[in-house]
Amino acid sequence: MQAARQSWRATPSLSYPFRDAPALGATKQVAAGVFWVRMPLPFALEHVNLWLLGDGDGWTIVDCGLGTATTRELWEQVLAGCLDRRPVQRLIVTHCHPDHIGLAAWLCEKFGLSPWMTYSEYAHAHAVYHRVAGANHAALHTLHQRHGLDPARLGALNSHEGHYRRGVPSLPEAYRRIRHGERLIAGQNTWRVIVGHGHSPEHAALYCDKLGVLISGDMLLPRISTNVSVWPMEPDGDPVGEFLDSLEQFKELPPDTLVLPSHGLPFQGMRARIAELDCHHRSRLERLTAVCGRPQTAAEVLPELFDRKLDDYHVVFAMGEAIAHLNHLMRCGTLDRVDDANGVYRFVRRAAP
Ligand SMILES: [Zn+2]
Repeated sequence: MQAARQSWRATPSLSYPFRDAPALGATKQVAAGVFWVRMPLPFALEHVNLWLLGDGDGWTIVDCGLGTATTRELWEQVLAGCLDRRPVQRLIVTHCHPDHIGLAAWLCEKFGLSPWMTYSEYAHAHAVYHRVAGANHAALHTLHQRHGLDPARLGALNSHEGHYRRGVPSLPEAYRRIRHGERLIAGQNTWRVIVGHGHSPEHAALYCDKLGVLISGDMLLPRISTNVSVWPMEPDGDPVGEFLDSLEQFKELPPDTLVLPSHGLPFQGMRARIAELDCHHRSRLERLTAVCGRPQTAAEVLPELFDRKLDDYHVVFAMGEAIAHLNHLMRCGTLDRVDDANGVYRFVRRAAP
């Protein structure tokens, strides 16, 4: 997860069957053959949830944690103490963000595996790691300059240089592709891959009908809104529209599905949470439509979306989210984008025909 703001809010209609997370280095069973592992994160999110699936004579791991010495030591504890001496046979990675893929190379090397991932997540991880195809600091600087970020805060973008490699020390050089709709068997359970977009290119969630369990990754979180940002590789992209469209497919699952998110506690009440996220984004879009009665840059609308002062780290994600919402309104035909005399984009409400 990469987040602009931790807007922690409780949805009253959600229920949390497991109030206590497992201790670091330990596991907790949450369904038949499904175990919860928690790893620390050295930033505001504080933790990431990972999952172990009993898989015949061995285990399937879902997500890896950040590529740090601390996470490696905790994995050693889990591997030594919690797996009944059964081997790890498979690693599934939901998406390319550092807290999910960070230790993939280490785990794969340890067990002689290749990670199971979607094509876009594998390729995107390598693009960001190798800083190619527009996934580099100079391109980020140019994007945010075009969207009106002031020179002082543009300078602060330097703190992001090398950010990805700090959490992902290396990447596997081969993978096993998974696709939307594919069914993966782990022990007695079959998991269906549900691909979602908007947060990352081709995020894989996993749903087991028999257990009534969804491993949602970062696509559906109980208390924070998933980050949906525009990045320089796709400057005119519409991740807000892609994310909202992707949530639709979760509405088809049984309403009492147990959701296992990457951050926060396992919960039930998915449809209420989806409705709240939909409402959250729609209200942001309405606010931006209102203030764009006169031309605005993405940097100028940041206070409309974020009610606290943004530090140098979070301004990158905040700008990405602001551009994402403005791009969505442009796609919908609500706003037009104009170039001002200085090469800066401004968005303005389209005049009624
Ligand atoms: Zn993420």
